[in-house]
Amino acid sequence: MNEYFSIAVDGPSGAGKSSLARRCASAFGFIYVDTGAIYRCVGLAAYRAGIDRKNPEAVAQLLPGLDIKMAYDESGEQCMYLNGENVSREIREPNISLCASDVSAIPQVRAFLLDMQRKIARENNVIMDGRDIGTVVLPQAQLKIFLTASPQARAERRMLELREKGIEQSYEKVLEEIIERDRRDMQRETAPLRQAEDAVLVDTSSIDFQQSFEALCRVISDKLHIEAVGEIK
Ligand code: C5P
Repeated sequence: MNEYFSIAVDGPSGAGKSSLARRCASAFGFIYVDTGAIYRCVGLAAYRAGIDRKNPEAVAQLLPGLDIKMAYDESGEQCMYLNGENVSREIREPNISLCASDVSAIPQVRAFLLDMQRKIARENNVIMDGRDIGTVVLPQAQLKIFLTASPQARAERRMLELREKGIEQSYEKVLEEIIERDRRDMQRETAPLRQAEDAVLVDTSSIDFQQSFEALCRVISDKLHIEAVGEIK
């Protein structure tokens, strides 16, 4: 029996999973784990190796040579290391999003990363976000949340997020990439994105960040019978 709490947050890209899960983790004193960042490291490695990222054998050959580590800096930000190099910024480039999506459809990649994700949950109170956390990685999680929003709302938010990081992309291009990634994530054979039967659905299309955060805090408090450590207003 796991003595720690696990909260699984799944949903399509751009639904606000990372920012909301990070904020909830800090409100309840949990560790936040962004599993997309781990897939992005594999995507980046495949991109740098110049291999066909849809070819399972080629990608699988890379895996034994990859040392992926997660660490938290002084401000609590999750940093990703690929073979000792801090790649936290590189993995956020839009072309790496598609690489991550490609490699994440490969069963060997998912198996390779599974233990790493489960181990963190065995040793900490976690809020873990991804696509298959409630369905595959942590099916025993005490709380599962499926966080979604319309593709248009997600594209607008993603565009602003990229702009803040100094990356300019048109709305049309961002929307197109979001729709394409949804399609790939939902239609792949291994661990496709879907809402777990026992997940609570939260749609943030027409509510802002603070309202979404408060809604999630209520769900967490109600289901786990715990109170936020900090202010949620
Ligand atoms: O969440 P993020 O957009 O950073 O994830 C990048 C890609 O990694 C997603 O498009 C998805 O294909 C993949 N991913 C996954 N399973 C997870 C997290 C991410 O397949 N648990």
